Amino acid sequence: MEPEGLERRCPRLGGDVAFGYCKVCGEGRTPCFKVFDCWWERFDVVAHMQACLSPDAFDALSARRPQPKMTSLVDLIRQAQARASQD
Ligand code: SF4
Repeated sequence: MEPEGLERRCPRLGGDVAFGYCKVCGEGRTPCFKVFDCWWERFDVVAHMQACLSPDAFDALSARRPQPKMTSLVDLIRQAQARASQD
């Protein structure tokens, strides 16, 4: 699935935006710092961004996220992925 065309209401802008916009609307065409929070219910945005970004860029994006709840979710996903790769 290519999620770039998916749309949702942007809580920052107040109108509909496509996921493709969210991927590049940050400073220097980086992803929006809320990209995980806004899209996790629609598709596996963590895996998608991990596949699209370098490890350093993904870590930087994860660190920019403001809500501790979603940070915990990413941490849980990483822990599950680490466990799965060890099996
Ligand atoms: S990720 Fe950013 S630009 Fe995209 S909908 Fe959420 S707040 Fe808006």
